[in-house]
Amino acid sequence: MKLRLALLSALAAVFCIAQAEDKPKTDSKTMPKPEIVKSEDEWKKLLSTEQYEVTRMRGTERPNGAIYHEFEQQGEGTYYCVCCGAELFTSKEKFHSGCGWPSFYDSSKAKGVLEKVDNSHGMKRIETVCKRCDAHLGHVFEGEGFKTPTDRRFCINGVALNFVPKGGAAPKLLELGSAAVQQKKDEVAKEGGVEVKK
Ligand SMILES: [Zn+2]
Repeated sequence: MKLRLALLSALAAVFCIAQAEDKPKTDSKTMPKPEIVKSEDEWKKLLSTEQYEVTRMRGTERPNGAIYHEFEQQGEGTYYCVCCGAELFTSKEKFHSGCGWPSFYDSSKAKGVLEKVDNSHGMKRIETVCKRCDAHLGHVFEGEGFKTPTDRRFCINGVALNFVPKGGAAPKLLELGSAAVQQKKDEVAKEGGVEVKK
């Protein structure tokens, strides 16, 4: 009887762990802070208007645009964050979903993509952002019946991606380093409920 109880509690523990791991990391307290934090003005200087609108203002590019057609034509290679140069996806995980936006069934092994719960516009969705600089990339949808290894669809704005064909040099990673950076970090810390002593 004791053995049976022990087995049951062990099973329950395993189940709880599995449940916890299945959930996207949504708690803002446990969410890793982006490594690159810049002011809006700094991002505006670094990005085109469309790149800024999508990645920093969480916009969405129109589907089936020129960027999407370019994406469809691209062969083997790697997709990097247009803001900071972090590796996000590779052509291995790319698939044709017919939705009009670049689609991947998984993020690359670099694990540069972070998933967050997005409750905006009256919907519960999973937002995907660049782990390094918090750039908005798009959303991820699950269980749609696509015959891919994950049945997940990372629906990504093409404008947020910088494609480098196989054999090409990876873009330079954007570095930190301006007065506005610390100020912005303080703001972010305050928003997260942590007062920063000056
Ligand atoms: Zn980034």
